Amino acid sequence: MIHKTILMAVSVVFFSACKPDNEATGNRAGKPQVYVVNYPLAYFADRIGGKMIDVHFPEINGDPAFWKPEAKYVQAFQGADLILLNGATYAKWTTKVSLPESRIVNTSASFRDRFIEVEEDAAHKHGKDGGHNHIGTAFTTWLDLEQAEQQAVAIRDALIRLLPNSKHAIENNFVDLQKNLQALDTELKEIANKYGETPLIGSHPVYQYLARGYDLKIRSVHWEPDEMPDENGWAELAAIRKEHPTKIMLWEGEPDRAIDRKLLEQGVSIVVFDPCGNRPDKGDWLSVIQASISQLGSVAPEK
Ligand SMILES: [Zn+2]
Repeated sequence: MIHKTILMAVSVVFFSACKPDNEATGNRAGKPQVYVVNYPLAYFADRIGGKMIDVHFPEINGDPAFWKPEAKYVQAFQGADLILLNGATYAKWTTKVSLPESRIVNTSASFRDRFIEVEEDAAHKHGKDGGHNHIGTAFTTWLDLEQAEQQAVAIRDALIRLLPNSKHAIENNFVDLQKNLQALDTELKEIANKYGETPLIGSHPVYQYLARGYDLKIRSVHWEPDEMPDENGWAELAAIRKEHPTKIMLWEGEPDRAIDRKLLEQGVSIVVFDPCGNRPDKGDWLSVIQASISQLGSVAPEK
């Protein structure tokens, strides 16, 4: 604790030394520099802040949830006017470095009493991230679109505090985004209603809030789209399907053809439901989530 306090004091001195005139008046020149830990927050901040702010989301290879930034990125975050966190233990690196607390906004704080605890899990021993696990708190908060909206509210309020003279424009931008989020939410509720008790399985444990928010019956294995599961992996799926006879598997991205084929042989088809935690190759957060919802809808059981 003492150590952290000293570090913070040092970093404050460092930054006021770097930017004396801005820091001294509490009024920085130029646009507010907003740093975010994942792409949904980047997208929301960009929609709400528009040209009034600069949004920084570093290029991350792999899942931003498990990112371990180099010192230069940490320094960039330390110099931000506003740091938007996802909360729910997302981006654990932010708890291991000294960030200016007065400039941090945890966008999921308003529903932190509704976080889902992940009970059992196995660490990944391989994969692009070099191994990670999901023990602790489920963090894909925005897949419940009502929670996504609350995160957007937190961003709106933080931006109004930074730019009180632009309150009106910020609120207008927020309302536009809110309409998009609510339309997705409504569509997802209608689709989920068709699924009813239909069992689904996730290839990766990232669909907890989607399941709760829309009352979808999703269980999960812990696979990666580019790694053929070993015998244990297939045995686990078979065991789950005995009590949860699913024919649809949700994937964050298109899995390798060999995995796809083997699943099809077993009567399991694929739906790509991309949480879009990282910047997509094509489109933006809204279009990717819309495509995911449409895919889920396209194979929904007819009532
Ligand atoms: Zn994982």
